[in-house]
Amino acid sequence: MRLHQRFARLIAASGPISIAHYMAEANARYYDSRDPLGSAGDFTTAPEISQIYGELIGLWLADLWTRAGRPARVHYVELGPGRGTLARDALGAGRQFGFVPTVNLVEPSRALRAVQHARIADATWHDDLSTLPDDAPLLIVGSEFLDALPVHHLVLTAAGWRERRVGLAGDKLVPVAGTRPMDAAVPATHADAGLGAIIETCPAAAAVVGEVARRLAQQGGAALLIDYGHVTPRYGSTLQAVRAHRQVDPFAHPGDADLTAHVDFSVLPAVAAAAGARWMGTVDQGAFLRALGLAARVEALCRAAPASANAIRAAAHRLAAPEAMGELFKVIALGSPDWPTGAGF
Ligand code: SAH
Repeated sequence: MRLHQRFARLIAASGPISIAHYMAEANARYYDSRDPLGSAGDFTTAPEISQIYGELIGLWLADLWTRAGRPARVHYVELGPGRGTLARDALGAGRQFGFVPTVNLVEPSRALRAVQHARIADATWHDDLSTLPDDAPLLIVGSEFLDALPVHHLVLTAAGWRERRVGLAGDKLVPVAGTRPMDAAVPATHADAGLGAIIETCPAAAAVVGEVARRLAQQGGAALLIDYGHVTPRYGSTLQAVRAHRQVDPFAHPGDADLTAHVDFSVLPAVAAAAGARWMGTVDQGAFLRALGLAARVEALCRAAPASANAIRAAAHRLAAPEAMGELFKVIALGSPDWPTGAGF
């Protein structure tokens, strides 16, 4: 049965569902059934734009591991590895410096696991973080992973704060205000919010970062997470759906469009600190890639393949230019208090 119909029946029988319920189930169905990446799919991501992205991340990891004393046993972990392109490029670059970790891919999607397996045969797959190895430091990477996790919405109505939920208008799924008062859940700092204001939160992202931080504090290592989002809290829904490279109504195609929300980076440093990890900082993707040697790598690739020079430069521009992905995308890093600070922070 199509997910739209299932949701419609559920809502007709027992009332509107939370945005988080809607987003979690829609994305689980969406990712499990297809490889959505690339020009023939729904959206394109940084690792698919240029090999340089993964290579520079591999250098970041190898450099940090070297400065941490080259521990012989170390685990590479990637959260939501997509096609496995970033893992392949990062591990290839790291290998040149002797960085050869075990490979752990956190990926619930059966369709994407199959694609990843074709690129990285020698890996262990995990449904979530709970089964990751606990015997050695972890070097954790996640690119456009946190944005796929379910968000919750609260909306200010004339009657007070309510949960924003998904209801029915005829046979259409539409956002509606819940009936239960939620004023007690809203901190006093929101007293100046105007009618219609939406507070968006992502407890799932905070939970993942908290678990990553706890692991790093206990086992050693570091994490590098890259995503689009904002560093100061703001009002409004950032829930969006993309299908065939176009924005569509987020409630129109559950299970058949990619649902994401901007990551609210402002809440994450406190989450990391509370779990005992050290926050290394938040930097723009463009600045991060330049600090790691983007320009030199572009020139080396252009010399090796002069016929592709224009495409190589255009891809690097897309990743790093402020008007493209360079400023919208942020890089955050956290680590064990015993590990050095990563390059670029
Ligand atoms: N990092 C890749 C893919 C980004 S798409 C790239 O940049 O190309 C989002 C990835 O997160 C997919 O691999 C998807 O299957 C995975 N994902 C989505 N929701 C998830 C969840 N709740 N738990 C774990 N992985 C999830």
